[in-house]
Amino acid sequence: MLTNHHTHSLYSDGSSQPEDYILEAIAKGFDILGFSEHSPLPFENKFSFRQENKDEYLVLMQTLKQKYASQILIFSGMEMDYIPAISENFIKIKTEYKLDYLIGSIHLVKPQNCDDLWFTDGPDFETYDLGLNELFGGDIKKAVTAYYHQLNEMIESQQIDVVGHLDKIKMHNRNRFFSEDEHWYTLLVNETLELIQDRDIIVEINTRGIYKQRSETTFPGFSILKLLKALRIPVMVNSDAHKPHELDLSFDQGFLLLKQAGINEVVYFKGNGWGFEPILA
Ligand SMILES: [Zn+2]
Ligand SMILES: [Zn+2]
Repeated sequence: MLTNHHTHSLYSDGSSQPEDYILEAIAKGFDILGFSEHSPLPFENKFSFRQENKDEYLVLMQTLKQKYASQILIFSGMEMDYIPAISENFIKIKTEYKLDYLIGSIHLVKPQNCDDLWFTDGPDFETYDLGLNELFGGDIKKAVTAYYHQLNEMIESQQIDVVGHLDKIKMHNRNRFFSEDEHWYTLLVNETLELIQDRDIIVEINTRGIYKQRSETTFPGFSILKLLKALRIPVMVNSDAHKPHELDLSFDQGFLLLKQAGINEVVYFKGNGWGFEPILA
């Protein structure tokens, strides 16, 4: 079974119409394609869903689900940005947008007692470095701790199905400021994984860093995959596609890493909850 639950069209920061991704997915033999636009945010930005397109989008999703029902299962999810005191309640958005599932991700970290946001994602490490210096005084431990604590707060206060690119905070680090085997860092990761395990949340294995050449491995990386196995936390492989041809990029490496970590099954959305599918050799 071939699935991708993390896809951005031009309704957020992707390149193309949703239907272009569906046609590509059918051509590639996908069984399930889930869209996950960036959730709307209450300030000007270039990547999130614009509220004024909501009605049009709802009709489009319904139409596409029906039009291609005999060839592929289409689902409407959303990649929810959690920013304390700024982002909307997730369930409210889920209801308003008639969403099938929610992926929860942190892209913008809010320091305590400060209204500025640290943009940790995007193509440039300069923005990451600038925020690290200006908002956290260059203290990487403080900055990374703020990222994981915000992730924990999302897991505890919102209802998500999937954690998106769990350790993406490492992307622009590239071993410049900290090493992922430092004790303080592994403690943070373990604390987050315990919350995920308690709440039966899925962790995605996101391959985008590999094919965009921004990371040598998946988000999360191999050491965390082994912990997911030990904790029996369900996983799925997603490409985080922003263009139709990206739908299955670096899936080979993603599934290989899962097998090497001893994980033999992935989950998929089946319309009324989640199903398990063995990973074929
Ligand atoms: Zn994301
Ligand atoms: Zn995404």
